Amino acid sequence: MSNFLQDDHNYVWHPFTQMQTAPTPLAVVKTKDSTLFTEDGKQYLDCNSSWWVNIHGHGNEYLKNAITEQFGKIDHVIFAGVTHPKAVELSKRILNFLPDNLSKVFFSDDGSTAVEVALKMVFQYWFNLDKPKHRILALDGAYHGDTFGAMSIGQRDYFNKPFEHLFFDVDFIPFPTFEMEKKCLLEAEKLFQTGEFAGLMVEPLVQGSAGMRMYRPEFLEALFQLAKKHEVLIICDEIMTGWGRTGKLFALDYIESKPDIVCVSKGLTAGILPLGLTIVTEQIYNAFLGPDKVKALLHGHSYTGNPLACAVACANFDLIEKPSFTENIKRIEESHASFAASMKNHPKLSDVRQMGTIVAVEVKIPEGNSYFSDIRDQAYDFFLTQGLLIRPCGNVIFLNPPYCTTNAELEKMYQGIRDFVAQID
Ligand SMILES: *Cc1c(COP(=O)(O)O)cnc(C)c1O
Repeated sequence: MSNFLQDDHNYVWHPFTQMQTAPTPLAVVKTKDSTLFTEDGKQYLDCNSSWWVNIHGHGNEYLKNAITEQFGKIDHVIFAGVTHPKAVELSKRILNFLPDNLSKVFFSDDGSTAVEVALKMVFQYWFNLDKPKHRILALDGAYHGDTFGAMSIGQRDYFNKPFEHLFFDVDFIPFPTFEMEKKCLLEAEKLFQTGEFAGLMVEPLVQGSAGMRMYRPEFLEALFQLAKKHEVLIICDEIMTGWGRTGKLFALDYIESKPDIVCVSKGLTAGILPLGLTIVTEQIYNAFLGPDKVKALLHGHSYTGNPLACAVACANFDLIEKPSFTENIKRIEESHASFAASMKNHPKLSDVRQMGTIVAVEVKIPEGNSYFSDIRDQAYDFFLTQGLLIRPCGNVIFLNPPYCTTNAELEKMYQGIRDFVAQID
């Protein structure tokens, strides 16, 4: 083991990792486009975009220049009582991408904080209006981050068992598979009729951490309409689904109804620097106005509005506005669709699904879906031997690669999955 890895072992505690049993991590020393290069001279394709964040590939010169240029102007500055050009530019530009009822942008540091801010806004909105409502509705299998509020509205399982007694009350409706849609809507309506619901939080169309589970835009539309009818604020967590993952820029672009709050992060900075945004309607913003501080949103983070992160996000928007962005998404979408079609009805798979630049295969396992399923570790290790970094969710193996990934690289990823599935006993 090199000194580098020995020191990692001595000093570093990794996320989502049982440190006692985890294999030695990949010692990445360089990244370029869709490839990670390790200390021992090997290469791996970044099939899940470095935890779903990297949309254009690594080492993009245009993004690099944006950060360097910004560093020469303002590296970081407090964001309370101070503003700077890139935060303002970013706010104007993101509002142009989103439904026109949204009009104000609040900055934070990552996906979880964007979600926390949204939750605080929703509860305080009703508090400020002197109509306190305390219940939140979410979908079974939800994942919205790892801080306490975000954990509260996520799936309750072994991930967050030690903290469960600290969570606030959340009602969950079943995941809306096609067969369950009607039942889910009936349940939601029954709950909303109590008048006690402050908000509804969803991952629109695709639940990421639940294993890239997909549901129909028609359901989302109907659920949003119910929420509107009962004055329940709608929070749309586009943290994973944004930036072309579902084939359109946002999953919201598949429906007519507009949410009250949108959370974005992950691909917002093209996966280069951490940044989260919570974007709201004028109606919500206005509820926080008043002559004194008590009505204000008294929330912020040291790095709020970091200028380097804002600059790289603006440069990311330049890349998103180029025709090549949409062309690459379309190319990957079509490629994924034909791979998915070729895997349909495979005897070793219980499901194959695809939306936009995400394709997922669910391996049949006797005990039902489980994150701890051995298949997960077997698959992860197998893919590494093939030069592929693929991190399955339990028995769900999925690809959501950077959009610069070439057709040959896509084919290598598909072949890896075909080979893995073929050798399962
Ligand atoms: C990743 C993710 C989050 C949390 O974002 P972090 O930046 O990891 O805190 C929240 N919601 C969804 C849908 C996500 O995929």
